Amino acid sequence: MTLRLHLDDPYVLEFDAAVLSRREHEGRPAVVLDRTAFYAESGGQPWDTGTLGEARVVAVVEEAGDVLHVLDRPLTADRVHGVVDAERRRDHMQQHHGQHLLSKAFVEAAQAATIAFHLGGEVTTIDLDRLVGEEQVRAAERRANEVAWQARPVRVSTLTAAEARAQGLEPPEGVESGVRIVEAEGFDRQPCGGTHPRRTAEVGVVLVTGVERYKGGTRVSFVCGHRALSATLKRLEIVDRLVATLSAPLDDLVATAQKTKDDLVESERRAKGLLERVLEGEARRLLAEARGDGPAPTPASPALVVAAFDGWSPNDLRVLANRLVALAPCVALLAGRAEKAHLVFARSEGLPHDVPSLLKAAVEHLGGKGGGRGNIAQGGGDRLDLVDEVLARAAEAVRSRA
Ligand SMILES: [Zn+2]
Repeated sequence: MTLRLHLDDPYVLEFDAAVLSRREHEGRPAVVLDRTAFYAESGGQPWDTGTLGEARVVAVVEEAGDVLHVLDRPLTADRVHGVVDAERRRDHMQQHHGQHLLSKAFVEAAQAATIAFHLGGEVTTIDLDRLVGEEQVRAAERRANEVAWQARPVRVSTLTAAEARAQGLEPPEGVESGVRIVEAEGFDRQPCGGTHPRRTAEVGVVLVTGVERYKGGTRVSFVCGHRALSATLKRLEIVDRLVATLSAPLDDLVATAQKTKDDLVESERRAKGLLERVLEGEARRLLAEARGDGPAPTPASPALVVAAFDGWSPNDLRVLANRLVALAPCVALLAGRAEKAHLVFARSEGLPHDVPSLLKAAVEHLGGKGGGRGNIAQGGGDRLDLVDEVLARAAEAVRSRA
């Protein structure tokens, strides 16, 4: 049986102990000591880390009532000096005690009981047994902070299970004697084996960072103490950068961001309208050029439009092709030269030309692939240098078909 020093004094971070047994845990060496200040993962609070002699303590777990210190290397000495990582311990004390305060505050503010608790690497969550509103969340947060700032003493006592029940405290399952009770004076009492500070003030600040519906209740995410400071500093930095990026004072930031977004939507709408007009004009110009002094194209004698454009997107080529084949009976063989070569071949409804086959042959020549069905096909390849050649070949095939 290991004497757990942290139960009586969570501020003891160094100790000397005798090694009682050596074991293995998930492929790593582990030891059981006669006494320890290391907290083993339990009740939502993660394990402590630190050192035992030369070895790093990478995990601390309970196994059949024993506290197993899982190490990064074997420990040969029979006596060992242990050091618990102070920052991680303080962090866990702040988050865990903050959880006690916040959970009790939710009982007061919304009659909401905490049914689950998870102390995570960045965010801690509690799950409440009912839905709570924004106002109740802020009221509970305010109350938890008030109690923290009152610097109330935190005391630990031990009761039998019967005594605990008589006081309205449900002991952990299977525990009949030695029920550990953690009390924030005059505010909250509950059975808990975790590490807690001497006074509520060590929690610093309780900051709720998220609220979501979860399994018919509410999941509340929060950070306490130094994590609340870090989270706030991070948000302040982001806000400062937004203020600089949008050249807006803090108070106008949201309105400026909304206006910028609205302006962008309007600009995109106008650009789309202008582009359509440009493409319509381009389609008419290309058809006039293809016709020259000849007669207007007919289904029996369709126009052939062959054109290549630098920097055009596949989408613009497709819109232009669709305009061309809608304006007059025609076959359009279009190419765009950007990072890659892109081809769009199209024909007017009812014409006999097999544009998917023409396209397939052309893109294969460009070292790429593509396809389509019926009236339109598209594809691309890497050989920008062969664009003119494949267009000329496809045009020849169309002319010989006509
Ligand atoms: Zn607890």
